[in-house]
Amino acid sequence: MAPLREFLTLSDEQREIQRLARDFAQTELAPHAAAWDREAHFERSLISRLGALGFLGMLVPESDDGMALDAVSYLLVLEEIAAVDASTAVMLSVHNSLPSRMLLAHGTASQRERFLRPMARGELLGAFALSEAEAGSDASALRTQATRDGDAYVLNGTKSWVTHGNNAGVILAMARTDTPETRRGARGISAFIVTPGQPGFSVGKKEDKMGLRASPTVQLVFDNLRVPADQMLGEPGQGFIYALQSLEHGRLGIAAQAVGIGRAALEHAVRYAAERRQFGRPIREFEAMQFKLADMAARVTQARAVLYAAATAKDRGDPIQQLSSIAKLTASEMAMWVTTQAIQVFGGYGYVKDYPVERFFRDAKVTEIYEGTSEIQRLVIARELYAS
Ligand SMILES: Cc1cc2nc3c(=O)[nH]c(=O)nc-3n(C[C@H](O)[C@H](O)[C@H](O)COP(=O)(O)OP(=O)(O)OC[C@H]3O[C@@H](n4cnc5c(N)ncnc54)[C@H](O)[C@@H]3O)c2cc1C
Repeated sequence: MAPLREFLTLSDEQREIQRLARDFAQTELAPHAAAWDREAHFERSLISRLGALGFLGMLVPESDDGMALDAVSYLLVLEEIAAVDASTAVMLSVHNSLPSRMLLAHGTASQRERFLRPMARGELLGAFALSEAEAGSDASALRTQATRDGDAYVLNGTKSWVTHGNNAGVILAMARTDTPETRRGARGISAFIVTPGQPGFSVGKKEDKMGLRASPTVQLVFDNLRVPADQMLGEPGQGFIYALQSLEHGRLGIAAQAVGIGRAALEHAVRYAAERRQFGRPIREFEAMQFKLADMAARVTQARAVLYAAATAKDRGDPIQQLSSIAKLTASEMAMWVTTQAIQVFGGYGYVKDYPVERFFRDAKVTEIYEGTSEIQRLVIARELYAS
């Protein structure tokens, strides 16, 4: 990963998976990432191609057709993919960290057989539908209602901001199972395994985004959608808690995405500063440029160190609620800052689409917003300071 040296102590297996992801990113993503971004094109063939590598079952045990990777290996893959195409990285992060982990933690044997195993093999893409138009940071205020009717639940409501919701074969959707008379707040929310193509299921507005343009973000509309009762996940009233548990892991995925983006911006800036000449010499010879590149390298390294410290803690089985928020906050703010500096290194050429730093800058911003904004990460970190 020139120009920064690898400082992590990695096993041969971890180095191998890192190399596999890097090679895939260079050969299969790098030639297309700019065009996919320009055209807001979601490349559907990536689902089966990433599935063939095992990248859609990274955290799933081998008995469920997964790769059973440790957290460090998983995040190394996300970092390498994000360093080339952050849109593909978010697809991997959402699928592996959120719906797959929810099914793994709470699914019955039959639900794992029907949904988790095909997801791990790359036959079905998984999405996560928690947010709604009026329920973002305050996600437990969601309004989508699930009402029991015989052997099914009938779902009504609109989920917003669903990453690749229009391409998913399985959607983990959170809906209320309490009623206005029996409101139970966060404990009135259950999780459902929703499959598209049923009467009452439709895809609504597709967002026209600043960045991550090759990752579609859509509304999903449930209009008297019947979901068989055996497709409720786990216990009634526990869905919000399951979602929060998976987001704790998801935040590490987004932190890895941000580290990949920041690292790539640094690499491009280092190269450009050696090539670009002004006043008769490469701009890297100006001290102001050297200090800028040094600060970028320091910030990328700091964020990487925190990310993999959190992953190591996760692999040890330690609680990581605070650490995963610290990793996400550190990495996302690093990515936004480093990509801004990278554009400065490129001058006017950083402001146009000829070089990828402009895309990295647009892609970095969302890492400060989704899976909990930076403000919400600070709330989580502060709350944990007083937890006994
Ligand atoms: C590209 C993209 C993909 C996404 N993918 C998914 C997905 O797959 N599934 C899904 O369920 N959701 C998804 N989301 C939704 C995302 O998680 C929310 O956008 C995010 O949680 C913020 O919610 P909001 O946009 O409603 O902002 P709001 O909650 O309205 O926040 C607006 C501002 O107020 C601040 N704020 C809010 N509450 C507080 C507080 N208590 N203290 C201090 N500041 C506060 C926020 O930090 C923010 O700065 C996605 C979003 C985007 C942009």
